[in-house]
Amino acid sequence: MPLKASYNDYLTCPMCDVEVPLSGDERPGEQVFCPYCQTPLALRRTKTDEYYLEEDY
Ligand SMILES: [Zn+2]
Repeated sequence: MPLKASYNDYLTCPMCDVEVPLSGDERPGEQVFCPYCQTPLALRRTKTDEYYLEEDY
């Protein structure tokens, strides 16, 4: 079964609450940077297949 992203184009930065644009190709564990506060963020997936961003220092 292919990995299907259940997020849209944006996830919220946990540090500054800005919407971080995503390409849709990111995989869980992948690091992205918040364009506003430059915090390194890791893409995480919950057991219910919801995606969120977590600080990844
Ligand atoms: Zn941020």
